[in-house]
Amino acid sequence: MFCYQCEQTYRSDEGAGCAGAKGMCGKDATTADLQDILLYVCEGVGQYLHRARQLGATDIEADRFILFAFFTTLTNVNFNAAKFVELIQQASQIRERAKALYEDAARAAGKTPETLSGPAAFAPTDDMAGLLAQASEAAVRKDAAILGEDAVGARALILYGLKGVCAYAHHARVLGEERDAIYSAVENALDMLAREERNVATLLDEALALGRANFLAMEALDAANTGAFGAPTPTNVRVTPIKGKAILVSGHDLKDLHAILEATKDKGINVYTHGEMLPAHSYPKLKAYPHLAGNYGGAWQDQQKEFAEFPGPIVMTSNCLIEPQPRYRGRIFTAGPVGWTGVRHIADENFSIVAQAAQALPGFTEDAPEQTITIGFGRDTVLGVADKVIDAVKSGAIRHFFLVGGCDGAAPGRNYYSDFADEAPEDTVILTLGCGKYRFNKHDFGTIGGLPRLLDMGQCNDAYSALVVATKLAEAFGVGVNELPLSLIVSWFEQKAAAVLLTLLALGVRNVRIGPTLPAFLTPALVDVLIEKFGVQPVGDAKADIAASLARAA
Ligand code: SF4
Ligand code: SF4
Repeated sequence: MFCYQCEQTYRSDEGAGCAGAKGMCGKDATTADLQDILLYVCEGVGQYLHRARQLGATDIEADRFILFAFFTTLTNVNFNAAKFVELIQQASQIRERAKALYEDAARAAGKTPETLSGPAAFAPTDDMAGLLAQASEAAVRKDAAILGEDAVGARALILYGLKGVCAYAHHARVLGEERDAIYSAVENALDMLAREERNVATLLDEALALGRANFLAMEALDAANTGAFGAPTPTNVRVTPIKGKAILVSGHDLKDLHAILEATKDKGINVYTHGEMLPAHSYPKLKAYPHLAGNYGGAWQDQQKEFAEFPGPIVMTSNCLIEPQPRYRGRIFTAGPVGWTGVRHIADENFSIVAQAAQALPGFTEDAPEQTITIGFGRDTVLGVADKVIDAVKSGAIRHFFLVGGCDGAAPGRNYYSDFADEAPEDTVILTLGCGKYRFNKHDFGTIGGLPRLLDMGQCNDAYSALVVATKLAEAFGVGVNELPLSLIVSWFEQKAAAVLLTLLALGVRNVRIGPTLPAFLTPALVDVLIEKFGVQPVGDAKADIAASLARAA
């Protein structure tokens, strides 16, 4: 096993990366190795699909499979080794289909099909022991001695960014939004990874192309969520429980939440959101369900305590899952790409079993004192008051905007983000998204000119919304996004954040601060490129970073 895809990867003086029996997230060596093999076979699928597409032939089911397969390998998604054996077999069959598609298309075009090597020719065995014996052929650093560390790091940036693109595109797809351009970009990236490209400049160009594809994926997801459930509007969300039977829904998948709300309608069960599901309360067609009662708990890293104390069933619809503890293992369910060995999985979006579990469990026995927070400042809401915002900036009432957003995690350095929000001067506005906001979203930031100083724009998935707002404000001021009084302070944890970073870089957004630590897969030379070319900066001291951001804008 070797994995260094997330922020919490094991770090020591000898280097970084989770190896040995288990990663810091709880992923065991077997699952990690099988994930590598799955991705490697998917690269083979991509080799064929990429060539078939050049000849006008496509296989949308194969593309959809790739999105799902990649999503299962994101940090804190699927820990079920047996599931990966199954997915590898499926990938292998799909690769055969893609091969036939390509070869038929080539012959139809009067060409001799290429004989492909690498992942296209890799033959996975059909049992776990055999697969584990093959794992070194698919390992993420398998060619480090040939390619060199910088190329391996740049390729990892693409591989992990691709995971983020696939996760966003999968969320959009389940709600009916798909883009051919995204599938084309995914196939292209897979083919590039299979080619063993080692030129770092070429790899970084590919990474930026992937960043542009991720913008499309986020746009598709925005269209999917708002198309299905309406545009988010400012909403007060109760963050304390009320008496009654209860279900807790975590992760990012609004479609699953909707299915759970339907399955529990008129049954006297309250549905609570957890973690990144909080923004669901701001979508008109979701908040119309009176039993969408509130939000419970905070960000993912506190789930073992919070889930243990929650008196009902829990559903994980996507990341971030950590090892279910005995106190709630019998009442937690996984859905979609998520999995944990021995935990009940709902594959068909039929959540009636969860409703039954809620009826059988005690629920909350009394009301807690009411406490609310306000969320729902998506692009429509913010742009709806754009005149007010522009006037406030012109009059000096608003000096600067800080987007303090992204993932949360257990690392002590993540206090930086709450310190940053708390220390931001009173004439500044804080935009936020992602689960990192739980560190400060119950603090009182007051208002500026009738606008709350803290504007919660939604999930990490809603980075698109923030980019639209920044672009429109830049247009209104007649400047570029980099000239706006806006600083981006990103907290990263997993691979969707890598995809968002690539999007920001591809759109030319400069001076993004990222932390709490830089990705371990980026070598010093790659970090230097990010600093020199894009002005990317590691986070430092919150007060000093605020002062530096304000000084740059002055
Ligand atoms: S996902 Fe992160 S914590 Fe888990 S094994 Fe990989 S690098 Fe380690
Ligand atoms: S924002 Fe990132 S860390 Fe937080 S729940 Fe989502 S994927 Fe996990």
